[in-house]
Amino acid sequence: MTTCPICGQRDIGKVGADQYYCGDCCVEFMIRNQDLKIYNVEVDGTLTLYDDTAQGTVNLEVQKG
Ligand SMILES: [Zn+2]
Repeated sequence: MTTCPICGQRDIGKVGADQYYCGDCCVEFMIRNQDLKIYNVEVDGTLTLYDDTAQGTVNLEVQKG
């Protein structure tokens, strides 16, 4: 079972052979062997490498609960 590496939810879409999309985080991620790469999906549809600084948002989510 593949889950979103950021929010951990299972309701993710498969968009390629090793490529998945999480609508919650608006990110795509690729899993090849043990290698995980996460990309932001910009409003125009381009992919940019997921920024570590954005994890501050994730931390806030965790602390909220
Ligand atoms: Zn997610």
